[in-house]
Amino acid sequence: MTILNRKPFRTVGAPVSTPVQTVRRLVRTTVDLLFPPRCILCGGLPEGETAPFCPGCATLLERERRQPACPTCAATVGPFEISDERCRKCRNRRPWIAKTVRVGPYRVEANNGDRERDNVSTLGRLLRSYKYSGREESGPILGGWLAQVVAGAPWLDRVEAIVAVPTHWKHRLTRPLYAAETLTAIVVKRTGLPQAQVLTRVKAGRHQMGLSYTDRSDNVRGAFAIRRGATLNDARLLLIDDVKTTGATINECAKVLRRGGAAEVYAAVVVTVDLDRPTSRVFSSI
Ligand SMILES: [Zn+2]
Ligand SMILES: [Zn+2]
Repeated sequence: MTILNRKPFRTVGAPVSTPVQTVRRLVRTTVDLLFPPRCILCGGLPEGETAPFCPGCATLLERERRQPACPTCAATVGPFEISDERCRKCRNRRPWIAKTVRVGPYRVEANNGDRERDNVSTLGRLLRSYKYSGREESGPILGGWLAQVVAGAPWLDRVEAIVAVPTHWKHRLTRPLYAAETLTAIVVKRTGLPQAQVLTRVKAGRHQMGLSYTDRSDNVRGAFAIRRGATLNDARLLLIDDVKTTGATINECAKVLRRGGAAEVYAAVVVTVDLDRPTSRVFSSI
């Protein structure tokens, strides 16, 4: 019995573990050895700082996040395409949204030049796995990157509150999670800006996925309204959504906010879908 009463053996500076902690650590190490943590995207082995991605996926994600985008509409842009802060796609438009930031593109150019292939970016695959395959661990990663681009936006000091693109209650019943809301919560926490619950979705409509450009606009027309009792008083707001495809949803929200009294509306999304190649697949995959 004297052995049990003995003080644990220490080396100078070494932390003392309780038996429970030691057993837990042993179990964790054994589990990690038997089933090492795998890359969320491809199942490869992460290396040090690349976790939770393998070095290959981490490099692709880094590259996609650095890809230049239009400061106004957040579309992917080539060199020398921006003039007066606009790309050729949005130069002649006067949108309801003043400026947009994004984390990266939903599509990447095919290496083999095959334009029919559904060239979803690594970032796009990560967002898809989060939205549709229940990979909830991707949420804080995507939300963190979105918060980073928002924090780096030159217009951030003008923004007074954040608004999530709202969902209809009927859609909540059939979807595992609502990405815009969870991502907004992360951006709110990281930026310290308040969230304004001023917008509501009054018409469910069909899911935008699979609809053409025109159908998407028709589908969201009249879908949003200012919440009863909310006053906007020349507020400058930041709208958050996960995807911008044609921009129909986010533009409709911005229109309702502006007509409801907001002075300026900015937007932040995780991915923008490049519509230079409008095949039916562009609309069907997210
Ligand atoms: Zn990987
Ligand atoms: Zn643009």
